[in-house]
Amino acid sequence: MIIAKQKELAEILQMLEGKQRIFLTGCSQCATTCKFGGEEEVARMAAALKDAGKEITGTVILDPSCISLKVKKDLRRAPGLQEAEAILVLACGDGCQTVAGNTRLPVYPANDTLFIGEVERVGRFKEVCRACGSCELGWTGGICPVTRCAKGLLNGPCGGSRDGKCEVDPELDCAWILIYEALKERGELDKLRQVRLPRDHRKARRLAIN
Ligand code: SF4
Ligand code: SF4
Repeated sequence: MIIAKQKELAEILQMLEGKQRIFLTGCSQCATTCKFGGEEEVARMAAALKDAGKEITGTVILDPSCISLKVKKDLRRAPGLQEAEAILVLACGDGCQTVAGNTRLPVYPANDTLFIGEVERVGRFKEVCRACGSCELGWTGGICPVTRCAKGLLNGPCGGSRDGKCEVDPELDCAWILIYEALKERGELDKLRQVRLPRDHRKARRLAIN
């Protein structure tokens, strides 16, 4: 799940300065589940913008906001879009760019995109993946050392852990203790004997995958 949070209204209004007629888009997937761009949030944003003197020409919940062909089709028939001067997107950065790529109108993000995370419960998320391009979970007991170890270590702990917590952030469990315990429980501690080479950061730098 992509996790994002809504920007402050003051920042949104600053972006929309000089634009009076606004069209809003939300997203049916992550933004709806995590409540940063579903029906409710779009309706709330529409009301807030109206209170601030803007005219809302229409709204649509894109299904989802990150599939270009679908967005193109849905925007083409969205009532109220033609009358708008700008689009405010309540989705993640990906959804926002997909909308921007399929319209000539100026497009603005209503949200700050934070990370790929797990939903522990409504409103509580845990960062679990940095989309590094070379997944290590197969030998780490399903716990990501790149994301959940503050130093991204691949060959065991740094030695700074105290009472099972990370020395960088004592609020967080030391990822390497979690990895050790998970592998021990599975009888797979031998996986830690292999020396792991430094990560190839080129794998994380890509603009498109065919
Ligand atoms: S190793 Fe890379 S791809 Fe796998 S979970 Fe961690 S950050 Fe994500
Ligand atoms: S204490 Fe554990 S999680 Fe924190 S940086 Fe060291 S090895 Fe990584």
